[in-house]
Amino acid sequence: MSQESVAVITGASRGLGRSIAIHLSRQGYRLALIARNQKELEQLKHELNKPDDKVQCFRFDLSNFAEIASLVDRIHTSFGSIDVLINNAGVGFYKPLSEHSTDEINAIINVNLTAPIILSKFVSEIMQQQKLGHIINIGSDLAQKPLANMTPYVASKHGVQGMSQSLLREVKEDGVKVTVINSGIVDTYFHGGVQGEQPSDKSLKPDELAQLVLQVLQQPGYQLIDQITVHPLHQEF
Ligand code: NAP
Repeated sequence: MSQESVAVITGASRGLGRSIAIHLSRQGYRLALIARNQKELEQLKHELNKPDDKVQCFRFDLSNFAEIASLVDRIHTSFGSIDVLINNAGVGFYKPLSEHSTDEINAIINVNLTAPIILSKFVSEIMQQQKLGHIINIGSDLAQKPLANMTPYVASKHGVQGMSQSLLREVKEDGVKVTVINSGIVDTYFHGGVQGEQPSDKSLKPDELAQLVLQVLQQPGYQLIDQITVHPLHQEF
């Protein structure tokens, strides 16, 4: 990817997505930042201290599937290309399935799985025409194992794993890469947490994950990292 590449980041308002945005901006990427919280997005844009042709905020609820095509179109028209898509936004709840409401189950599957599939559909079309692009999906180490009390979340991340590996086989001949990063515990606001309050030896830092995203993007064009699994050493997995 070149210095001026355009990266779309979902869930950029806080946690991991925010760190990824900061690291990519420092490398010169132009950014389309997506989340529902406009205030947090604008605060991030202010901190990045970049003009509108470098960073734009898109207040958007990813469960609004019908509007995803026009969101991608607006970003593409505004920046002229889309070179990187980071499907990062995610939600999850730790409790038995019987205690999940139907709305909570829908939110998990919609934001974690269906929205990334629909976004990838429209963005990969653009990337295939460009003969260049990289989709990075933030999965979870729970993509490869079961966990009681996170049934809908685990199902969504198993889906992300399958989606990533399958889409890769559809688009790689056109120069488009797909990578899934299956992470263990990260110190963010996930599941009502407060970033900065996790025990430091039991959680990865968002900046470390963001650094990993950059390394994946910086591989030579002919090299593909299709999947990475990373945990804190002392986490059970
Ligand atoms: P976080 O701090 O809670 O951030 C979640 C992000 O997702 C926020 O920016 C939020 O923005 C966005 N989001 C949620 N619902 C949305 C919606 N309907 N539409 C648009 N954006 C929405 O959590 P995080 O840990 O950074 O999560 C990032 C990714 O890492 C997720 O995919 C998560 O599954 C994955 N992950 C996390 C961990 C962990 O231990 N933290 C471990 C493995 C994988 P708004 O609220 O402003 O919309």
